[in-house]
Amino acid sequence: RAPSPAPSSTPSVQVFCRFRPQNSIENSHAGVNCVKSNQTSCTVMLPNAQESDPEQIFTFDRVFAPNSTQEEIFDKVVSSLVDDSLNGYNCTVIAYGQTGSGKTHTMEGPPNCDFSDPESGVLPRVATKLFSTVANRRTELKETAFECAVTMSVIEIYLEKIVDLLDTSSPLSKKNGDSELLRIREDTSGSVYLEGVVEHVINDPSGLLKCLGDASQKRSTGAHSMNARSSRSHLVAIITITQKTSTTGTTSGKLYICDLAGSETVRKTGAGGKRLKEAQAINRSLSALGNVIKALTPVDNNNSSNPHVPYRDSKLTRLLQDSLGGNAKTALIVTCSVSSYNVSETMSTLRFGNRAK
Ligand code: ADP
Ligand code: MG
Repeated sequence: RAPSPAPSSTPSVQVFCRFRPQNSIENSHAGVNCVKSNQTSCTVMLPNAQESDPEQIFTFDRVFAPNSTQEEIFDKVVSSLVDDSLNGYNCTVIAYGQTGSGKTHTMEGPPNCDFSDPESGVLPRVATKLFSTVANRRTELKETAFECAVTMSVIEIYLEKIVDLLDTSSPLSKKNGDSELLRIREDTSGSVYLEGVVEHVINDPSGLLKCLGDASQKRSTGAHSMNARSSRSHLVAIITITQKTSTTGTTSGKLYICDLAGSETVRKTGAGGKRLKEAQAINRSLSALGNVIKALTPVDNNNSSNPHVPYRDSKLTRLLQDSLGGNAKTALIVTCSVSSYNVSETMSTLRFGNRAK
């Protein structure tokens, strides 16, 4: 096993809630802002269906109001995890929420946005911080031999099948033949990896964004339209950082950035055929994720020093197994609209986030 990483001050699981402003569709349906959030107490209040019922209150590690910036999200949620991954921890950042609630906006920002864009999301900011920290380390270490390798893989989990989005040898076909699919393996030290996944070596922040661009290119040339497919599959970017110095040996950390399938699909099981299969697959993996995160939170572990964590219930949780729990650091960001038009989806998203807390 690799040496234990330096102590980290980041809690093992944190849950954040981010709201987006009401959009024109919600406006046209006479939606109003129905959410009361309090940044100091980190609480969110939603009105109840009946006037006589008490309001529903949810508590998070931090709540981001609709006017919060991309920079704030990075600074308060992700920045410390980049440090942790550089110190040898495995870290996971997950965006969960209904389609259109801001998951991709949070994780990537607008399509093809550049580093200087204030709207750039988590991934471009991770890239910038990662390489500037490595450059500083190199300067600090002066004469000491220092090697650092950063690699990136991007995969999609669709219908419980894992597709390599950086493998350009095969297009994303309508029916993914088994030859295109990746298998999850575990090595003797308990590290989980994807057998044969393409790992691009990244030398600078632009290299990381290029990979992301290539992945969305492949995803969008698939059988389904980009939006439809992206709302029904999980996108996972895996960044691996391996550092070696003559004095401290090798340190290796992983950072998983997950933009999940839309959570609303879970309840649309009235559909048949393909849609039903998709809904069942999403349902299964999102509830497995909720159960895993719940099993990892201290409140639930009071009576058991070794709780059963059901990682094997889905491809997503199995893949994230060595990066959720144990020494790993997890940030779950639940994204919602403030609009009354989407209040029932928001309620269900907040419940998921609260259950995970
Ligand atoms: P999702 O990935 O959850 O389906 P998107 O991230 O694609 O949702 O967001 C849907 C739309 O809402 C996009 O046009 C996006 O720019 C906008 N949006 C999302 N979050 C915010 C936000 N916090 N502030 C302003 N606009 C947002
Ligand atoms: Mg999206």
